[in-house]
Amino acid sequence: MRPINDVTMNLTEAQINIIKGVFYGQAIGDALGLGTEFMTKTQVNQVYPTGLKNYYEIIQDDHRKRWEIGDWTDDTDQFLCIVDAILENKEITELGFAKEIFNWFKGIPMGIGATTFKVLDMPQYVSHPQKAAEIVWKLHRKMIAANGAIMRTSILGLWEFWDNKKVIGNTKNICQSTHFDPRCVGSCVIITAIISNLMQGKKSLTNTEIINIAESYDERISEYILLTNEKEIEVLNLSDEKTVGYTLKALSAGLWTLNNSDSFEEGILAVIDEGGDADSNGAVAGSLLGAKFGYNSIPNRLKNGLIYKDILDKKIKLFIELLESKFNHPNQFQQTIPTNLF
Ligand SMILES: [Mg+2]
Repeated sequence: MRPINDVTMNLTEAQINIIKGVFYGQAIGDALGLGTEFMTKTQVNQVYPTGLKNYYEIIQDDHRKRWEIGDWTDDTDQFLCIVDAILENKEITELGFAKEIFNWFKGIPMGIGATTFKVLDMPQYVSHPQKAAEIVWKLHRKMIAANGAIMRTSILGLWEFWDNKKVIGNTKNICQSTHFDPRCVGSCVIITAIISNLMQGKKSLTNTEIINIAESYDERISEYILLTNEKEIEVLNLSDEKTVGYTLKALSAGLWTLNNSDSFEEGILAVIDEGGDADSNGAVAGSLLGAKFGYNSIPNRLKNGLIYKDILDKKIKLFIELLESKFNHPNQFQQTIPTNLF
């Protein structure tokens, strides 16, 4: 962290490397993960006997050929809805986000998840997003906890990263704008807490610290965190049909890579090789790995192969400029120093 009176300096190179790493990690994990999305582990091994390592290797079946090679899916579209809401309003609110995601929904929202579809399809979603999400959750007897929020919210670990309380509040607000279940909120907050800690120059959170966060949201989260202590990714059973698309599966995939990978590439390829909801698992893992190892560590072929790389670069530039201006604002900065909620 910078000294409190030093309000005119820019973000450090290390922080820029994390920011770009989160944006690119998110998009790469999503775009490459599409290649094994909804496959079982056996199918992945059959289709990609030596593993999927490049966008051009993605099999063009009926599901995948809807996207161009190197395009990302709904996960990163919605991540960018959050970015656009921040850029437009210079803050993140549920109404700002609802407007952006609803505009995306009115287009051709390829890959949209069932929960997100039902919530966005509710009358008056744009004016009452959280109420719509709560109603859909209750209509499903509070049973649904899909990964539609965790797959997009890593960006909120960067925005106002210096203020733990705001990071938590922003994450909860945007999660509950589509996904109301406490397992969704807890898993999203864990992701953004890890990223904001890294931005603050601290180490990644330990599993014990992560479990402490988890327990404050829902007692069902911890067992998925404990699984990530295991060295073999197979214990996560990511392509299990009954739990594919579950928010805690995506959480475990992301945390496993942090605990068990020595590089961005090693971690992202391991998750994608497991199939299941691989683009969402890849988006979560990619943003965490991008934060931990940084943009500079990501192989050029994965960065340059994104066909909408120019859009990503433009958004990153605008986001960094806005974040620096918020970071350097004396009043904002002084208000936000003392929190330590993690
Ligand atoms: Mg997707």
